[in-house]
Amino acid sequence: MLKYFVSTHRTQGQRDNDFTSIAGTELVDLTGECHDDPDSPICGCARSFVGITSRQTSTTAEVTETDMTAAEYIGHFHTGLLALGWKDDANTRNGIIDAAVELLLLAAMWPAGTVVERRGREIRVRSFPSRRRPGLRRS
Ligand SMILES: [Zn+2]
Repeated sequence: MLKYFVSTHRTQGQRDNDFTSIAGTELVDLTGECHDDPDSPICGCARSFVGITSRQTSTTAEVTETDMTAAEYIGHFHTGLLALGWKDDANTRNGIIDAAVELLLLAAMWPAGTVVERRGREIRVRSFPSRRRPGLRRS
């Protein structure tokens, strides 16, 4: 099982400058940054995740867990960037692997259902999943 980040509407509005233009749930990357300040009133790049296919953005993402393989996950990043017109060369592929693996390592730290936000280069937890494990409850 692989854990990775997808867009979410959960906790949207917790910050005044939250936004999302991603309609459903989509695999996300980090947007490139043209600003350092995650609270920049001009541009939300430093607080945004970007949908790998739609290229729409969201300030909230959550950890999901599926049977997708790491190779498939990286392949989605690759397909997304080639669709944007990126050149399919070693530089692009290495950059994709670096970005995708970094996100996989981060997502692996938290349980599925954890909602995160981005503050520049840092990913922070907003909300942990509620504990609902009745199978473990003892009477
Ligand atoms: Zn910016």
